[in-house]
Amino acid sequence: MIYLDYNATAPVHAATIDAVVEALKTGGNPSSVHRAGRSARACLEAARARIAKATGARPRDVVFTSGGTEANALALTGAAGPLLVSAIEHPSVLAAAPDAVQLTVGADGVIDLAALEQQLAAVGGKPLVSVMAANNETGVIQPLREAARLVHRAGGTVHCDATQLLGKGEATLEALGADLITVSAHKIGGPAGIGALIMRSGIDIQPLLLGGGQEMGRRAGTEPLALAAGFAAALDAMAALEGWTCRAALMRDRLEAALLAAAPDALIYGGEAARLPTTTCVGLPGLAAETQVMALDLAGIAVSAGSACSSGKVKTSAVLAAMGVSAKAAGEALRISLGWGTTEADIDACSAAWTQLANRRQAA
Ligand code: PMP
Repeated sequence: MIYLDYNATAPVHAATIDAVVEALKTGGNPSSVHRAGRSARACLEAARARIAKATGARPRDVVFTSGGTEANALALTGAAGPLLVSAIEHPSVLAAAPDAVQLTVGADGVIDLAALEQQLAAVGGKPLVSVMAANNETGVIQPLREAARLVHRAGGTVHCDATQLLGKGEATLEALGADLITVSAHKIGGPAGIGALIMRSGIDIQPLLLGGGQEMGRRAGTEPLALAAGFAAALDAMAALEGWTCRAALMRDRLEAALLAAAPDALIYGGEAARLPTTTCVGLPGLAAETQVMALDLAGIAVSAGSACSSGKVKTSAVLAAMGVSAKAAGEALRISLGWGTTEADIDACSAAWTQLANRRQAA
């Protein structure tokens, strides 16, 4: 199978599996005082330090969670001040902040900084503003530092869902200008079921889970040692890869050129903006995305219609809607996402299969 759905989840690195197995064998509860507990604690803290290094935080400011979804909920639930979130956030952000003021985006998928400035003035108080680093459907990168400057000037706090940026760009507190960062392991070849909320020192959050006092009282529950070790191993594996994002960008651009040559009426959503090198969101007028996904699947190519997080359900993309794309056009958009394992041959096969689809559409 040709896997071009890295934004949904990435293939697990061999080193991740080794680290998970090793940690499972180590066993122990990090909270126990005996030797087994102490070795579990050492393993957990080594993983925490690795994640802290990748995000430019102090280890004590890394809170392990069950993934990006929980980290987003932890960042946003119970915020004291008014909430502002961009309209293109992941559903886990939108659901955690149902009453938030929504920040608009332009047709290119980039948040409107002038509107943000006005909205900050309108809400007043000390707002918590959530803007993602890079969008999971279009790959569009947001002007986080500029947004953070505006938010901080207004006395607010910035949360950034960097789930799709980690491993592809600099997902640090400093580079993003953020106070809180969400990361998730399974987008970088780590295990699903673990992520983290990263906090700038001095920032505090309301815990969602209370009980045993783990994670310095910020997330109760016995820590998933093996998953944490797998997360850290995935970061090491990503750091050891060289030049893959540049190769991915070239392949993505070549893929888009081939698709546009096959169907000049195809649309590349967010194509005008700065994007992740790995993602393209392409609309093929006249052919439902579900049909395209199934035809490509039959050809052995795995891609997604919009966000795979709506798991198999045909749901209009809120991201494309926020960019002003009609429901019909959004229903014809495919997300193709590349990764470190993608080859030129994969791209050629995808272009060929998609070209056949486009030609069949013309013949119909
Ligand atoms: N945020 C973004 C931008 C995502 O792409 C995803 C995964 N689809 C999540 C959050 C949720 O992460 P997880 O699957 O680890 O809960």
